[in-house]
Amino acid sequence: MENQQSATRNPQPAISIVIPVFNEADNLSELIVRCLKTCNRMDRGFEIILVDDGSTDGSRDMIEAASNQYPGVIIGILLNRNYGQHSAIMAGFAQTKGDIIVTLDADLQNPPEEITKLVQKAEEGFDVVGSVRVPRRDTFFRRAASHMVNRVVQMSTGIYMHDYGCMLRAYRRHIVEAMMQCCERSTFIPVLANSFARHTAEVDVQHAERSAGDSKYSLWKLINLQFDLLTGMTTFPLRLLNVMGGIISLFGVGFGLFLFIMRLIYGAEWAASGVFTLFAILFIFIGAQFLAMGLLGEYIGRIYSDVRARPRYFVERVVGNVGASLPEKKSGNMQGQI
Ligand code: UDP
Ligand code: MG
Repeated sequence: MENQQSATRNPQPAISIVIPVFNEADNLSELIVRCLKTCNRMDRGFEIILVDDGSTDGSRDMIEAASNQYPGVIIGILLNRNYGQHSAIMAGFAQTKGDIIVTLDADLQNPPEEITKLVQKAEEGFDVVGSVRVPRRDTFFRRAASHMVNRVVQMSTGIYMHDYGCMLRAYRRHIVEAMMQCCERSTFIPVLANSFARHTAEVDVQHAERSAGDSKYSLWKLINLQFDLLTGMTTFPLRLLNVMGGIISLFGVGFGLFLFIMRLIYGAEWAASGVFTLFAILFIFIGAQFLAMGLLGEYIGRIYSDVRARPRYFVERVVGNVGASLPEKKSGNMQGQI
């Protein structure tokens, strides 16, 4: 009841919480209670968007029941099948109305009470607020994989964040709008967000063991996610083909020269009567093939970047242009406004 009141008090919610749910029936009731309690304490308009990502365990009905109980406060988005955590969050983003959007997991590994900390930080003017799980309660394998991924992401986005894997994060509205203008289908939200962010911050948050059920990420899904992450970040692996081709070709040429000189010194019998020369020629051709693939890769990389149609830039503000207004936001994703 209290929640309904706060929603009527402020019809335009200031804070939107987006939670992807995939077979989390055992966690949902506690999650909803704790989220409502935390949000009510913040004394601002809020909405909790629960996205059912094709659950088969009754989560769907529970979300529907909760949204009937707290209309306008809990909003259920029911996807017709399982599309994955990041797609589910994007579906949630499309429904958000708040200025600050917080994402978290439904399994209570991210305590909902920490939302307050993130919102406070975002209100200080940060575009993206990440979180660092201390102490992290995951298996050694997951921690090691995370560590590796964090390093690669840091190199590629240039934004230093300790923990790209933690989905307890807050985004300001313009970042979410920018993400929704990207046309790619494979997204890794924290990295995508940081590619549009200027001021970022991190806060330490608690991390709990999964409260019930198993991780929804099988090894295969994890591998898939890593590829989404890699291809979403950079087309550098395609360029690597060029580099490898160059190195192999150079090695072939060097080897050929070496054979030639040794032949002059020691005569024709040296180096198995020309068999090694064939190897040198082979290396040059293999290198040339890699170079050709790398060239194709360069084109594919450019096609990929055009197909994703990420906004080229965002105008934050135009100053000094008295009397003129900014051009309309174009649907062609060529520019946007913050
Ligand atoms: N999730 C989802 N769709 C999926 C897999 C996961 O919506 O295909 C949700 C899941 O319900 C949870 C969050 O994403 O709210 C994180 O999943 P999980 O806790 O299984 O991941 P882990 O903590 O093991 O990384
Ligand atoms: Mg989890």
